[in-house]
Amino acid sequence: MKSTVFFIPAKTAEGLSSLAQKTKRLLEALAPAGAGLKPAPANGPGFIKKDELIGIKTTFGERGNIGHLKPPIIRAAVEYVKAGGGKPFLIETNTLYVGQRSNAVDHILHAYSHGFTPEAVGAPIVIADGLRGENDYCMPLPEKVQEFKGSRVQRLTRTAFIAGGAKAASGFVFLSHVTGHMLTGLGATLKNIGMGLASRGGKLAMHSGVVPQILTDKCKACGLCAEFCPAGAITIKDYSIIDASKCIGCGECLAVCPHGAVKISWDEDTENLQKKVAEYCLAILKGKEKKSVFLNFIIHVTEQCDCMDKAYPPAFEDIGILASRDPVAVEQATVDLIMEHVREDFFRKAWPDIDYTTQIDYAHKIGLGNKEYELLDITKGLRKVVRSRQ
Ligand code: SF4
Ligand code: SF4
Repeated sequence: MKSTVFFIPAKTAEGLSSLAQKTKRLLEALAPAGAGLKPAPANGPGFIKKDELIGIKTTFGERGNIGHLKPPIIRAAVEYVKAGGGKPFLIETNTLYVGQRSNAVDHILHAYSHGFTPEAVGAPIVIADGLRGENDYCMPLPEKVQEFKGSRVQRLTRTAFIAGGAKAASGFVFLSHVTGHMLTGLGATLKNIGMGLASRGGKLAMHSGVVPQILTDKCKACGLCAEFCPAGAITIKDYSIIDASKCIGCGECLAVCPHGAVKISWDEDTENLQKKVAEYCLAILKGKEKKSVFLNFIIHVTEQCDCMDKAYPPAFEDIGILASRDPVAVEQATVDLIMEHVREDFFRKAWPDIDYTTQIDYAHKIGLGNKEYELLDITKGLRKVVRSRQ
């Protein structure tokens, strides 16, 4: 059975209040699970129950970057959740690399500086993996080998380290800005879920199979990393020494070292990285599949992602916003729509060494969602099928 993807054409130039209004319309179009194509009840979203804690996941952007989705758009989702009786919060996690978003305090202050204040968006921010990434939940993915439509899939992740707050949330509204990405080729819904709600240890596991390394020429033997290491894996002599047999790969030493002496190998090949991202999506959405919705914004699309500290101009004309209850279908529809409008494979051209389709194909294979979809344009209240992918 095909999944449904709703679409509204949109352009940055039409202004934030128009984009927010369109976001609201798309959210309202997403019907409760099992309701087919019927609209959600007029008094609020059908999938949210009273007082449920619903995480709204976007990214606050890096300093100097202008591509991220802006607060009025996020506010539209906040109001949507409130209309359904839920309690919305903006959910984020610490970054693996050291910077403005690698601990909760700096991250929240940075978000405020980009306008994501509780007053502006109508909801608080929760950094779901704790102050420094220590709050993670170990989610086992028990079936190492999964049968799917007769094919056997060898999973790469046995235990996913997901942000504790993501585990505790009742459901999610994912608002993803579509961009290229230096490691995965495409950064949109799947990356926003899988990488975005992994704890620091999860991010480390996805990016690298190995323990961090100490750059002995930079290490000042200050002992801070040993103090924070939750596994007692670090001893300090002339420099910090990590016991690989004890290290659980949480990445905390990387975050706390004030001298840049802890290095991780960004050595996972892109195919495995994309597969792990999809597996993390599975872990994060487990039990919340019917309580989560996914929106992709094809506006101000750039080759680089919003984690870069530069303002990049859009690579092509804005297309619009897509919404679905199926994270795979919305991703597939996004790349198809871009291909149709730009008349070339934008992501492949931007990152020729990366096959970005791996993440979508693999997510489909492991049962995260459907690559077959119907695209419905709801412009002006009309619903018409403009695409039906086989
Ligand atoms: S925190 Fe950094 S400088 Fe200090 S001991 Fe650890 S690695 Fe060395
Ligand atoms: S050495 Fe300790 S702090 Fe660093 S990644 Fe391993 S367990 Fe975490």
